[in-house]
Amino acid sequence: MAIQYKSRREIGKMHIAGAHVAEILLILRDAVRPGITTGELNAIAEAELARRGGISCFKNYVIKRSDPPFPAVICTSVNDEVVHGIPGKRALKEGDIVSLDFGATFDGWVGDSGLTVPVGEISASARHLLAVTEKARELGIAQAVVGNRVQDIGAAVQAYVEAQGCSIVRHYTGHGVGKQMHEDPLIPNYVDPQMDNPRLQPGMVFAIEPMVNAGRADTRVLKDKWTVVTADHSLSAYFEHTVAVTEQGPEIMTLP
Ligand code: MG
Ligand code: MG
Repeated sequence: MAIQYKSRREIGKMHIAGAHVAEILLILRDAVRPGITTGELNAIAEAELARRGGISCFKNYVIKRSDPPFPAVICTSVNDEVVHGIPGKRALKEGDIVSLDFGATFDGWVGDSGLTVPVGEISASARHLLAVTEKARELGIAQAVVGNRVQDIGAAVQAYVEAQGCSIVRHYTGHGVGKQMHEDPLIPNYVDPQMDNPRLQPGMVFAIEPMVNAGRADTRVLKDKWTVVTADHSLSAYFEHTVAVTEQGPEIMTLP
């Protein structure tokens, strides 16, 4: 599918969708505490989504038809889980980190965002990982300007993350966002001369979502066919915003 450029009016609608997503993520962030289960966090998100009249982009999402559809409205990825963790009976413990990923459609437009949240007091190394990942997202967003190319985003993210002694996950990337959660182009968090590198134009809207490991970059998928973990079981963090490229600079859609 070709890149879908959004009009100013459409970007306005995406701001509204993004604000709902951001507000629900704040509610989830505030609910995170030792003892709560990831399934309880999902129930909070599902109720809040229904109250606001949104539609989940995640529930029943299918990657491969032979695999089970995703069963929840958020992804909850704990500690060495990178992304796509399935909410369930797991209770969060003091010192854990949990990545919350949430995408939903409001009035036909998608917002996609997420963050990694500390559970109570966390280790200094976990704090470093979270700070590096959030800062990497910020540096990536700053590159989302007219005249740059897609891989200027990944170049900024990768250079910073690696200088901080962490590694960038390569198997998963950001993506265009619009009426669909996953549109073109891919937004890699690293430089790959083999990949498409389109020029950034006004009206492009995409998710910038660095996934950063404290150890090596390699990942694998668990038997549930969804949960991605670090191959070396090191901690992993992730921060995501949906961002529009405009003549005035990058505009973050997923703010409360
Ligand atoms: Mg997401
Ligand atoms: Mg995304």
